[in-house]
Amino acid sequence: MAPPFRLEFVMSADHVDRLPPVRAEVAVVGRSNVGKSSLINALGNRKALAHVSKTPGRTQLLNCFAIGKGETALIDCPGYGYAAAPGRVRAQWRPMIERYLLQRAQLAMIMVLVDGEIGPTKLDVQMLDWLRSNVRPHTVVATKHDKVKSSARLGRRAELASGCQLDPDDIVWVSAEKGTGIEHLRDLVRLWLS
Ligand code: GDP
Repeated sequence: MAPPFRLEFVMSADHVDRLPPVRAEVAVVGRSNVGKSSLINALGNRKALAHVSKTPGRTQLLNCFAIGKGETALIDCPGYGYAAAPGRVRAQWRPMIERYLLQRAQLAMIMVLVDGEIGPTKLDVQMLDWLRSNVRPHTVVATKHDKVKSSARLGRRAELASGCQLDPDDIVWVSAEKGTGIEHLRDLVRLWLS
């Protein structure tokens, strides 16, 4: 049986070079409100785990969560598309995220969260294009599976896939609310980190 998937907040960093040394890690990116905190909480089976990423001073940092015994980690990247973030702040954290996504040698997979109810936004597509053009490993994880009626899910999966220029089978679709697909995603994370 797979070991329990435990997540523990470790620290926040304002630069890739200040992250703790780990053997391997996965990152989570997505626009604000996509369901990133809810997903991290669901993965770690801890109700308020990712709230720490939303506390003042941490929203624009790379937030590091140790997985299991801590030789691997999950990095919660700042949500992109905060319309309210002042230009100067945005100008600082965008290079920080880009540097992290491009330079972190241990980064095994980048989970790009897309809202399963509303589909990929322009910013999501921009992120996917950027990851593709830089040949960075990534997987689209659609959120809020429970918000789409079961009769509409097949069609929605096809729409999500075409919006992301992927095959329907390439999309991992989860519900943090109902737990749908969470164990499967934990298995994928274990695989990526192995
Ligand atoms: P973040 O800004 O990306 O961290 O997003 P949050 O995790 O805070 O979620 C944004 C909103 O979407 C909140 O109101 C959540 O309750 C809701 N939400 C997130 N995941 C799900 C889900 O799987 N199902 C449903 N129904 N709502 C969700």
